[in-house]
Amino acid sequence: MNAEIIAVGSELLLGQIVNTNAKFISAVLADIGINVYYHTVVGDNPLRLKECMEIAESRSDLIIFTGGLGPTKDDLTKETIAKHIGAALVSDEDALRSIEDYFKKVDRPMTENNKKQALVLKGAVVLPNDHGMAPGMYLKSDKNAYMLLPGPPKEMEPMFSNYGRDVLLDALEIHEKIESRVLRFFGIGEAQLETDIIDLIDSQSNPTIAPLATDGEVTLRLTAKDPSAEKAKSLLDDVEMKIMEKVGKFFYGYDDTSLIVELFKKLQEKKLTIACAESLTGGMFQSDLTSISGASAIFNGGIVCYSNDVKVHHVGVKQETLDDAGAVSEQCAVELAEGIRNKFASEIGISFTGAAGPEALEGHPPGTVLVGISLPNREAKAFKLMIPGSRNNVRARAVKYGCHILLN
Ligand code: ATP
Ligand code: MG
Repeated sequence: MNAEIIAVGSELLLGQIVNTNAKFISAVLADIGINVYYHTVVGDNPLRLKECMEIAESRSDLIIFTGGLGPTKDDLTKETIAKHIGAALVSDEDALRSIEDYFKKVDRPMTENNKKQALVLKGAVVLPNDHGMAPGMYLKSDKNAYMLLPGPPKEMEPMFSNYGRDVLLDALEIHEKIESRVLRFFGIGEAQLETDIIDLIDSQSNPTIAPLATDGEVTLRLTAKDPSAEKAKSLLDDVEMKIMEKVGKFFYGYDDTSLIVELFKKLQEKKLTIACAESLTGGMFQSDLTSISGASAIFNGGIVCYSNDVKVHHVGVKQETLDDAGAVSEQCAVELAEGIRNKFASEIGISFTGAAGPEALEGHPPGTVLVGISLPNREAKAFKLMIPGSRNNVRARAVKYGCHILLN
């Protein structure tokens, strides 16, 4: 089976919103093994919508529409489709009742055009809307299958995940359980990671292994299918083990986690506190860390020491270090980390200094980054890195490297 997604809405064409619905639906379809060959965006215009439908019907088995199911004049997806495929629109009792309940609850009179939202294509499987009024629907004709979903992502996403997906699995007679897991890596490029596990990717069809690179990180999405959920999970475990044998040293976490969250968890578990001296990153590390609820248990505080004066007088870097080696130096990073650790009575001190760019600093090319780490009963150390990219990329990546060093 192959599918096409038609997103209806003039605001998509005007550049006012991004078509995140197509992205979301595509990811779910990929997971259940339905190939998506086309994404189409069309405005709220019945003639052009009909044209898109005709093209889609000629090349795709399943056509999924989003948007235009609302009560207003410009919402015409349902009417246009009904007319085109010759299906009547009938009022759905459950949908009507939930719309009436909604108006009772908010104590507002229901208008005639709200009733229009309870109209569904005759013969369609109705998909309940738990977060809004317009129901979704699925209808199979001789040649094609059609699914209609509302436009607002907060209505569409749960409807599609909770009801639409199951309807498609039923229609496809897929009675298998699908289990997914995302493995997250840092410190290795996408190309290198792929090369290291290419034999696994090539030989593996269940689970599938899909690499993706974003923001300097690489993820592998593993998806396994089996009639038994337990078996699907054990298939994931097996392939995960093989992947870890090859690239495990770059792995840092599962699914939606992040490096800073993993660092927080590690410090919390080990009951360690941290303090931070930030030059290059201007407070980004501390900002990221304090975005996690409960950070106060592990984070004592820090100083944004942008000027050399502050580095010397408030963190404790030696003036001669700055005179001899400069601020972009291993020695400076070490003294910053030690200084802040002592000043804030923490177990760990971390520091960031370097040249964010676009210009060179003290003769060091942009992207030169030094992360200082000071731990109890150990000599403080500096890690030197060269990070490519824009100023903000260098700074954001430096924070990630800092977490990565402490995680290893
Ligand atoms: P409503 O009942 O809210 O009118 P609807 O089903 O008629 O819902 P639209 O009117 O087409 O949907 O879109 C409503 C809103 O949903 C849009 O203004 C936009 O914010 C969001 N939306 C619509 N389509 C998409 C899309 N493809 N991707 C992301 N957001 C979308
Ligand atoms: Mg609308």
